[in-house]
Amino acid sequence: MSFETLGLSEKVLSAVTAAGYTQPTPIQAGAIPPVLERRDVLGLAQTGTGKTASFVLPMLTLLEKGRARARMPRTLILEPTRELAAQVEENFTRYGVNHKLNLALLIGGVSFEEQNRKLARGVDVLIATPGRLLDHSERGKLLLQGIEILVIDEADRMLDMGFIPDIERICKLLPPSRQTLFFSATMPKEIQHLVDKFLSNPARVEVAPPSSTAENVAQALVASSDDPKDKRATLRRLIEESEELTNAIIFCNRKRDVGVVARSLERHGLNAGALHGDMDQRSRMQMLEGFRKNTLTYLVASDVAARGLDIPAVSHVFNFDVPHSPEDYVHRIGRTGRAGRTGTTKMIVTPADKRAVDNIEKLIGKEIPWEGDAVSEEDSGASRGGRRRSSGGRRGKDTAETTDKPEEAKPSSRRRKSSKPAPAETEVEVATEQQGPVTQAPVSQAPAPAAPAQAAAPAKGRNSQRGGRGRSREKEPVFGESEFVPAFLLRPVRPSPAPAADNIADDDGDDAETASGDALVD
Ligand code: AMP
Repeated sequence: MSFETLGLSEKVLSAVTAAGYTQPTPIQAGAIPPVLERRDVLGLAQTGTGKTASFVLPMLTLLEKGRARARMPRTLILEPTRELAAQVEENFTRYGVNHKLNLALLIGGVSFEEQNRKLARGVDVLIATPGRLLDHSERGKLLLQGIEILVIDEADRMLDMGFIPDIERICKLLPPSRQTLFFSATMPKEIQHLVDKFLSNPARVEVAPPSSTAENVAQALVASSDDPKDKRATLRRLIEESEELTNAIIFCNRKRDVGVVARSLERHGLNAGALHGDMDQRSRMQMLEGFRKNTLTYLVASDVAARGLDIPAVSHVFNFDVPHSPEDYVHRIGRTGRAGRTGTTKMIVTPADKRAVDNIEKLIGKEIPWEGDAVSEEDSGASRGGRRRSSGGRRGKDTAETTDKPEEAKPSSRRRKSSKPAPAETEVEVATEQQGPVTQAPVSQAPAPAAPAQAAAPAKGRNSQRGGRGRSREKEPVFGESEFVPAFLLRPVRPSPAPAADNIADDDGDDAETASGDALVD
């Protein structure tokens, strides 16, 4: 299949050639024709599959007719994080080199003024995070009645971040006659509900079931005690022992640990930086830029900050923590082994993580081999009188990263109801062979049933284990009753005046935690 057969305009085709693409990826082959027919599209695909071009290229073609009026943008792309929004803007600029279109990026963390000026000039393409878009709309600076095409990207991430009520609210501000393109890597029931409510007879295009992990990624589990210091030492050993490591992303579950681990690696002479949602926009961009350009070798990141980022060539992914949600594991390790390359991923597992690892293995449908001995209860720091730490039990402000920015996560008050009947979905045939260099796993035949492993292990437990604003998954099952932890047990406990010996004798030179004190109540 070639791009020429998809119905794209000459200007777009010439930009595609300039980008060096020779053939469309499966999501592009499946989504572009129905978008050009002005149909709604439900795309089940994740970043790394060429998803962005699958909506940007046909949008550019459709935008060639008509012009934008002041404060009335013609197309709207919603992204869960600022980084993803900025990435889509880059893609638009790249694929739209032959078009004279006005773009505006409406994201939090930057001033309103510049964004207002752009809106006043007339914008063809609006790329926004939900909170900032609603802020502009509420200030009367934005009229959404001219929107012809709406793209909701990374819908499952929107759900995780509590943005679904905002999305519903935005959808109601748009003209009903618009075209809606909806992308998600997974389809939990809240997402299906949105699709039923806001898409009309969508063409469904599915690639690379989200529970699949790239075949070209070597996976391993590595045992450690639950003492953070041991975990950091294990991480350094894994880094030192890794052959052919060119760069790595290291995932932590908590924002605070992202900083601690990054500083620890730096202190041990490794070129590391941190990426998490509490950093200001400029620092995040700088960090990412450094990593993309290889001036930074180790990027320590949280899920929210790193999800969906297009970092083409990462040789290693280390999980410093076992993720609470099994699907996060798939997303994390999807950062390596991209574009046909091989990759390596290793996950540090403590005795408390056993159940989370079982859930991951259930989701991906295979056992992950241990490198060295499997974790044993005796490794527990708690059993040696060290600090106790559970991977899934604590709640509270710093338990896990839940959102990009407070101003972009205040959705619950904005909830409304709609009575639009659920439309039927229709399927679009997608080529079945692996195409294009960016596909992570073979495309599934459409109509594609949910992968069995995914059906058996829905995205569960996250709500019960991670705090979060505006979450709408309260009713989801928890992993098991035995995981319930009474609130009083979750309260931090300050040790008696003299700190425990192992907090003082930080002989690996890694004193980040002892200095801050809060690590003592980890
Ligand atoms: P995305 O899934 O949109 O984040 O894209 C992942 C990567 O694939 C990006 O670096 C794109 O530049 C690249 N890409 C997108 N479409 C193609 C294509 N048809 N051929 C080769 N690379 C592509």
